[in-house]
Amino acid sequence: MIIPLVDLGAQYNSIKSEIDDAIKECIEETNFIKGKAVTAFERSFADYLGMECCVGCGNGTDALEIILSSLNIGTGDEVIVPALTWISTAEAVTNVGAEPVFVDIVSHTYTIDAKKIEEKITKKTKAIIPVHLYGYPADMNEIKIIAEKYGLFIIEDCAQAHGAEYFDRKVGTFGIASAFSFFPSKNLGAFGDGGAIVTNNKDLGDSVRKISNHGQLNEKHKHFLIGRNSRLDSIQASILSVKLKYLDTWNNRRRDIASFYLSRLGEKAEFVLPVQEQSKKHVYHLFVIRCRQREKLIELLEEKKISWGIHYPNALPFITPYRYKKHKLQDFNNSSDVIKDIISIPIYPELTELQLNLICDQLLKYNE
Ligand SMILES: *Cc1c(COP(=O)(O)O)cnc(C)c1O
Repeated sequence: MIIPLVDLGAQYNSIKSEIDDAIKECIEETNFIKGKAVTAFERSFADYLGMECCVGCGNGTDALEIILSSLNIGTGDEVIVPALTWISTAEAVTNVGAEPVFVDIVSHTYTIDAKKIEEKITKKTKAIIPVHLYGYPADMNEIKIIAEKYGLFIIEDCAQAHGAEYFDRKVGTFGIASAFSFFPSKNLGAFGDGGAIVTNNKDLGDSVRKISNHGQLNEKHKHFLIGRNSRLDSIQASILSVKLKYLDTWNNRRRDIASFYLSRLGEKAEFVLPVQEQSKKHVYHLFVIRCRQREKLIELLEEKKISWGIHYPNALPFITPYRYKKHKLQDFNNSSDVIKDIISIPIYPELTELQLNLICDQLLKYNE
């Protein structure tokens, strides 16, 4: 038995007829771009989060970039981002012509260290992009205080955290705008690329809609500005509308699996397991553990064909495109530390008890 890191086939099979009907309806309507499937999904996703506006776009990276452009952030500006995240967070900043400024993470939560943000703020700083990495909310209260003190925008990167909560409030509702990704393996995933921007600011909502649709708003051939083409297509939107109904159930199942892992793997003092602070509701996009001899653990997993991943093998300040910044390892102690021993083990709603026991039995063989 191969245990994958995520099993999209199993998920599809669990809701196959609903998905097939939704896709078929879209094809029969031949309204492939925009149209009612997109409007309906945008409305239900905004409602799910309790937000005013949701604008679908091509992917999560575009979502970040379009938000930055809408806020007129570009050349000469700086944006604070965590050192440990998927490349998109910094890539979007670079692509609008601004400079990403990296801040180290807190090692036990893997999210940006709010205490280290202030020292990186300059006259050029315009925004902070906290990332709710692995599905775990960043310290939004602490970040908000800093953002207010310096008049900075907060843009949340929610690509891994659909449905996660901070003090009983969903992530994606704290900043001026938030970016979501519907990449197939995300907690809410399409059958291709997709993304969305959510905001409570009506003007910003209009502005991101214009940028993502060639500068047009509701009327074709009326171009308010030079935008781009980054839209959520109708088939993806109709799939997402079906899946959104299951998101909470799926996230709960991920949490149950996490509890199972935490109780069984908790026996092993050699493992550092994810933390669960009272104020934060984790949605376990990934289940990341740390152990000193990762290679040994990988051997054990491979022996039983259990898939694993490393998210991520490098901290962004040290990847080739950012070498020009000449950062030192000690400036990002925690990020540089954790990348050496983190490993992601399978977590997805369709994991069976049999699979879970097999994974745990195997992991418990680990000895340093
Ligand atoms: C997946 C992801 C993105 C980008 O999403 P795409 O849809 O793949 O462009 C951005 N940020 C983080 C943290 C992600 O995990």
